[in-house]
Amino acid sequence: MTTIIDGKAIAAGLREKIAGAAADIKAKHGVTPALAVVLVGEDPASQVYVRNKHAATEKAGMRSIEHKLPETTSEADVVALVRKLNGDEEVDGILVQLPLPEHISSDRVINEIHPDKDVDGLTEANAGRLILGKDGLIPCTPQGSVILAKTVTENLSGLHAVVVGRSILVGKPLAMLLLAENCTVTIAHSRTKDLAAVCREADILCAAVGVPRLIKGSWVKKGAIVIDVGINRIEEDGKTRLVGDVDYDGAQDRAGAITPVPGGVGPMTIACLLRNTVIAAARRRGLGAVDV
Ligand code: NDP
Repeated sequence: MTTIIDGKAIAAGLREKIAGAAADIKAKHGVTPALAVVLVGEDPASQVYVRNKHAATEKAGMRSIEHKLPETTSEADVVALVRKLNGDEEVDGILVQLPLPEHISSDRVINEIHPDKDVDGLTEANAGRLILGKDGLIPCTPQGSVILAKTVTENLSGLHAVVVGRSILVGKPLAMLLLAENCTVTIAHSRTKDLAAVCREADILCAAVGVPRLIKGSWVKKGAIVIDVGINRIEEDGKTRLVGDVDYDGAQDRAGAITPVPGGVGPMTIACLLRNTVIAAARRRGLGAVDV
């Protein structure tokens, strides 16, 4: 029997827990954790993401502060806003929605965010902390992926994890997190020879590639945990469909557990953003550990 990992339900449970932690902080310390989101320009997908993040933040009982800036805003002005938010005692988390317009360096802007408020976990400081095994803020999608894998088997120690993809946003941090769980980790990418053979070795197979259904069912070891991070929009049978990087129908029979697309890793990303916000609030305000 294959377990279908219900990311939607797991994310909903996590969000409830986070709402409880936020309410607790409010009751004990009179503080409402606050997330500031910076959106530059009119990118329609980014506008949807920011709207969803705003609604989810408020639903979890936290403050959502939106800064919408015109497409023509200079890099210096975005940096100035980030610096202002860094210094704002009321703001616990700062998220700069990517992509930024072409004339602005996202690298420059992201690294202006104070690491303790970097709820996307994308600053060099937090990447370094992750590699060094120090407390930091962990990128949301990799964090959500590991939480999902651990719903299948709490102890991942000794398992062979194969991560296909080595992006800064997903693949690399995901590999580091699995290493921290004591997995034996292989990172595969576009230059990997015989990707099929590498995938067949995986007890945990994570796909973060961006190529629809690249990973075939026959590449999945029997009983493996398959975490499909991919979100690809394709036209099929005259319809627009969202599919993952794994051939779900082919893999479903062989996997021990698998995340669907949509409804797998996707919903975990916002839940982990809220988790990071409540953790950041508790840490930087010295309120002690939060159980989320
Ligand atoms: P990137 O494009 O930044 O990275 C893709 C990685 O896949 C690269 O490391 C690349 O290798 C590798 N790759 C590309 N083609 C192949 C191939 N044929 N064989 C093996 N490896 C290959 O993508 P992201 O990491 O940002 O995103 C990956 C996927 O995850 C996308 O579908 C994206 O939409 C989705 N995503 C989902 C999120 C969610 O919330 N669920 C959040 C973020 C992303 P190389 O380095 O050699 O070029």
